[in-house]
Amino acid sequence: MAPAADEPVGAVAPRRLVVATGNAHKLEEIRSILTERHDLDVELVSMREFGVTEPVEDGATFEANALIKARACAEATGLPALADDSGLEVEALDGAPGVHSARYAGEPTDDAANNRKLIDALEGVPAERRTARFVCAAAMVTPEGLEQVRLGTMTGRIVDTPRGEYGFGYDPHFVSDVIDDGRTNAQLTPAEKQAISHRGIAFRALRPVLQQVLGGG
Ligand code: IMP
Repeated sequence: MAPAADEPVGAVAPRRLVVATGNAHKLEEIRSILTERHDLDVELVSMREFGVTEPVEDGATFEANALIKARACAEATGLPALADDSGLEVEALDGAPGVHSARYAGEPTDDAANNRKLIDALEGVPAERRTARFVCAAAMVTPEGLEQVRLGTMTGRIVDTPRGEYGFGYDPHFVSDVIDDGRTNAQLTPAEKQAISHRGIAFRALRPVLQQVLGGG
């Protein structure tokens, strides 16, 4: 096809990757992480734009669910697909809400209700036993059958009083171990969160796989 009039001759369009999420916050975080080094020529498009709906996430682990989502998107669109399955594991709650983080307080997903349920469940648990971690499984699946998953974690603790306006989900109640001034995730700027988050770690680890797939034409 001839290039458009305003397009330099020989310009190569960015490769389209479909992202298996309807969560705009997640999509923005993934986009920001993957473009921070300006060395990946990708256009990340939400599955919503292709009319793909979320598959049933009935895997027992974050890895299994990330693969279920990425496979469904690659199959439905014929494009390489990225997925993130993530959640919060609280030690005093034996790892809950875990893979059920999004729907901890039931359907439909409601961050405020999830946070209320979490804080109620931790009533009476002393500060030193409120340790928790966020986990993210980042998956890439191609229509040709390549499947790769990388994990990232962020350890910290749960605080009763929500603070901050950034982020999403449980961020207002989570203080990371590497933040020494006590700010919650929701009080970190997007760049600060991205530098230390489970999602940042997992998708940076997946970057070589993307480079391999994109490099493959
Ligand atoms: P998923 O969409 O099934 O992966 O569900 C992820 C759920 O885990 C979200 O709805 C949030 O409740 C929680 N979660 C995952 N990552 C984060 C984060 O970075 N901050 C706050 N909550 C998160």
